[in-house]
Amino acid sequence: MRSNSKYTPAGAAKRCPICEGKFGLVRHYSWRTALCSKKCADRFRIRRECDRRWLHWFQPA
Ligand SMILES: [Zn+2]
Repeated sequence: MRSNSKYTPAGAAKRCPICEGKFGLVRHYSWRTALCSKKCADRFRIRRECDRRWLHWFQPA
């Protein structure tokens, strides 16, 4: 099973879940998750579509 520990819900993340870099002045959002750049947002979206097992992590309660 994939470790989901670093894919924290929106609002809780302090680092980009894709590259694990710190956020800059601008954040890009994809599925309510903050990404550090548009590039990471695109990668995040691809990952999400490729691995729906953790889709529920990003749905509102
Ligand atoms: Zn990033």
